[in-house]
Amino acid sequence: MKSSTATATTATASNNPYPPDSGYTGRFAPSPTGSLHLGSLLAAAGSFLDARCRGGRWLVRMEDLDSARIIRGSAEEILRTLERFGLHWDGAIEYQSRRTTHYLEALAGLRAAGATYECSCSRRVLTAGDARLAGPDGRIYPGTCRSGPRRPGPTSTRFRMDGGTITLEDRFQGSITFSSGSLGDVVVRRRDGVIAYQLAVVVDDALQGITDVVRGSDLLASTGWQLALQRALGLPTPRHGHLPVLTEPGGAKLAKSRRSVAIEPAHAGAELLTVLRLLNQAPPAALCGAPAPEVLGWAIAHWNPGAFRLTRQIEVK
Ligand code: GLU
Repeated sequence: MKSSTATATTATASNNPYPPDSGYTGRFAPSPTGSLHLGSLLAAAGSFLDARCRGGRWLVRMEDLDSARIIRGSAEEILRTLERFGLHWDGAIEYQSRRTTHYLEALAGLRAAGATYECSCSRRVLTAGDARLAGPDGRIYPGTCRSGPRRPGPTSTRFRMDGGTITLEDRFQGSITFSSGSLGDVVVRRRDGVIAYQLAVVVDDALQGITDVVRGSDLLASTGWQLALQRALGLPTPRHGHLPVLTEPGGAKLAKSRRSVAIEPAHAGAELLTVLRLLNQAPPAALCGAPAPEVLGWAIAHWNPGAFRLTRQIEVK
């Protein structure tokens, strides 16, 4: 496996632009929908290293709201894997499924402020028709129910994106401007009553005091909605750093077969070295065969996000 899009840069502790900063709280927020694979290890290790090199805290939150997608036993397996990779977290694990009261409070706040509306459009209606409305994260909602649900029956709740443009100063990806029109109104409560990821994540990041969100670039479009929700709820916006995501050669989403290859804790040191090389961290050859804690020790001391700056995708062979 080889990184193809980024150029190698030699990192040293002295050129690490981020001095230790104990005011940092980061997090890794996996969905318990299967084993960790190389792509999710990259996200976990990236957020861990970014936190630890700044003397920060690193929390783990299980995003287990969507019960239909959860695989039994996968949360426990993810946690065991993180431990065996030496990715030790601080404090207690939060489970979103136990935090509904907080989300409902936030939802009530948005409703009271007139920032939401009920929407009767089903997924089937939304996916039929005009392909020009394709947005970064599926289709852009055309606003059909903005002045009231069009059909009787169950509704979802949508948040109105009325904010013009929102600019994200991403630590790794530079300045990115989202326009409300290119995102569209987003579901914050699904038709089945489940609180949607976009709302849960901003509530949790605020309540957990997250200062730094470090995650995959596949979530960049979501960040536009999340910044708008933070604004509407009067919540602080954390710093963001979006890591590259692994793709097939040619840039297509990593095939399911590859994503389903679980990383092997017995080879934790070697798997971490692969991730570091993909991120152009240039680990020395002397680390070959070293156990995970030693690889992580080197990586914390030499963490250099500049080596993958502006890289959103890394093709794996
Ligand atoms: N649970 C999301 C996922 O596994 C990540 C959410 C986040 O980091 O904000 O893709």
